[in-house]
Amino acid sequence: MINSSVINITQNVSLPSRRVFLTGAGCLLGAGVAALGAGAAGAASPTAPSRTAVPSGASARMRQAEAIETDVIVCGGGPAGMAAAWAAARGGARVLLIERHGYVGGNITAANLTWVINWKVEVGGKRVDLAGRFYKELMARLHAAGAHYPDPGSLTTDFDVVEPEDFKFIAEAMLLEAGCRLRYHTLISGVEVKGERIKAVHLTGKGGPAKVRCMVMIDATGDGDAFTLAGADFVYGRESDGLWQPMTMLTTVAGVDVAEAARGAGIKLHYNKYYINTDKFDLPDEGRPTSGSMTWSTPRDSSQVTFNWLHVSGLRGERADELAEACVRGRRQARQMVDYLRAHVPGYRNAWLLRTGEQIGVRESRRIKGRATITEEDVAAGKIPADSISLAGYYMDTHLPGKKAVKIDRNPRTPYGIPYGALVSPQFVNALAAGRCISGTHLAAGSYRVMGTVMNIGEAAGTAAAQAIRKKTEVADLDGAALRQTLESAGALPRL
Ligand SMILES: Cc1cc2nc3c(=O)[nH]c(=O)nc-3n(C[C@H](O)[C@H](O)[C@H](O)COP(=O)(O)OP(=O)(O)OC[C@H]3O[C@@H](n4cnc5c(N)ncnc54)[C@H](O)[C@@H]3O)c2cc1C
Repeated sequence: MINSSVINITQNVSLPSRRVFLTGAGCLLGAGVAALGAGAAGAASPTAPSRTAVPSGASARMRQAEAIETDVIVCGGGPAGMAAAWAAARGGARVLLIERHGYVGGNITAANLTWVINWKVEVGGKRVDLAGRFYKELMARLHAAGAHYPDPGSLTTDFDVVEPEDFKFIAEAMLLEAGCRLRYHTLISGVEVKGERIKAVHLTGKGGPAKVRCMVMIDATGDGDAFTLAGADFVYGRESDGLWQPMTMLTTVAGVDVAEAARGAGIKLHYNKYYINTDKFDLPDEGRPTSGSMTWSTPRDSSQVTFNWLHVSGLRGERADELAEACVRGRRQARQMVDYLRAHVPGYRNAWLLRTGEQIGVRESRRIKGRATITEEDVAAGKIPADSISLAGYYMDTHLPGKKAVKIDRNPRTPYGIPYGALVSPQFVNALAAGRCISGTHLAAGSYRVMGTVMNIGEAAGTAAAQAIRKKTEVADLDGAALRQTLESAGALPRL
């Protein structure tokens, strides 16, 4: 039986047959009649389910927390959370994934950010793909479905462009196949702590509150919401002045004549089809693009072009009130940008605004204070600590607060390691961070925040959680160097 608020992934998820659907429709009708107080309606059909009138005090009952138990709770279903949930479930743990939207994917699906960076490094003159198992399977399945193209040329390049609707479906299928339970439209509302252990995570969402008792909590909310509710220490923004990177409303424009746009920009179409450019146009006021801005065609319709161009500075991504203002400003900029493109840019005369993100893209907010912290010096020097559970290589790419500019730093092809200690808060023994909220400096985070890397970090966190449960130990007590070997042997991490 599929519960309406918790999808049990071990169930058959194929669509119900017409007969089952009709039975379900009958149930809904029956419930509706009972709610209207027509008690005698039950006698109309001998096969009708028994109905009970909604008792008085039902609203009080709704407020009682539903009790749920799981081995691992993953808070947030973005790139890091999906990979963590998948790896923990594949490792044999019972996993519950909590997500505020009605689908997984985080920035990819909710912020319309469909350009996924999986930066390759060079070792001994060879290009090395750092992607874990989750990333590789996901991209292969998207590619097979016609919902992905690599830039440019082959599956071993640095960028993967994906179709957001296919992404929702395929990523979700992978989680269901792994045996995860998904709970959508749900927010983390509190964390119960005893000493240095997380005892339970409190949820709020459709149907009322719930309390989840867990062995391990993984915070993959991007903003470190769960750790913050538990009382963990965190840092914010630049070390020098506390300011943080601006947000961007990712915007997709349809009806673009890509051949004309490419001719106008003096570039070649990829695969003779897709428009990809980093041109800057002189937009007025707020709608002006950032320096280093990017545009790319979507896989299923190359005349749809997505823009990573706009900046909203000075507002905080972990606060609903400031997010609301950011969304309003971001959408206004998107409209202004489209007007400008139509009026001035070759190939865009008949273009229209197809889609903005359901949420504005938040580059930076809280980062936990971990047992280890990744610094810009570590990134620049290519430091690979013994307990590196993931490898990364992307630039330190930070958009400057309050300015339409991007700062790019480091040798882009030297690998560096993400130490296990950067996922561990010294305050809690049974919790891990995964994704952009792990422990690092502002500049270092500008590198490891890209989605290929955060998926690999998530896969490592999920693997660690399942391992700790199997060994009846705490995630904080796991040996990071041994975990690295496990990941290497499983093909989740390349041996350098
Ligand atoms: C504008 C912009 C452009 C970028 N460009 C690129 C790029 O081109 N390529 C690239 O690879 N990376 C890019 N990045 C970086 C990358 O998108 C992020 O760093 C990455 O998505 C972080 O992954 P995450 O899983 O940690 O967090 P997120 O992707 O933010 O996912 C967090 C998930 O948790 C959920 N959540 C949050 N809070 C709660 C809560 N309290 N309760 C329940 N659920 C919650 C969210 O809904 C979301 O699904 C960009 C980022 C931005 C903002």
